[in-house]
Amino acid sequence: MTDSCIFCKIVSKEASADIVYQDPQATAFRDLHPVAPTHILIVPNRHIESVGVLEVEEEPLMGHLFTVARRLAEEEGIAKGGYRLITNTGADGGQTVFHLHVHLIGGQRMRYPMG
Ligand code: AMP
Repeated sequence: MTDSCIFCKIVSKEASADIVYQDPQATAFRDLHPVAPTHILIVPNRHIESVGVLEVEEEPLMGHLFTVARRLAEEEGIAKGGYRLITNTGADGGQTVFHLHVHLIGGQRMRYPMG
């Protein structure tokens, strides 16, 4: 838990968010500024700054974020049509919140890159 981290506060429910899924390892909530009909962020509950500091021990946790994404995509009804998973890393990667997260984006046909 990092005091100044908004995603840590969402995980601990100190800050409000539209949480769609939570378990002991991960939390998923709707992005405040959605770029598509479905835009959910999946985060580890524990504060990890970015992919840039990942350790081998975190490999199961990272896999878990992806299976949570897959299940949420099914619940959102976008699994058949397809969706995009994005993890921005560092400033040049477009990361603005420095608590690792996977964007689950779908519900429309995506172009590449997005911007
Ligand atoms: P990134 O730019 O990859 O770090 O993504 C950060 C995302 O977090 C952006 O899409 C923001 O819209 C989203 N975001 C920032 N603050 C909040 C919040 N309080 N609740 C939900 N989403 C947020």
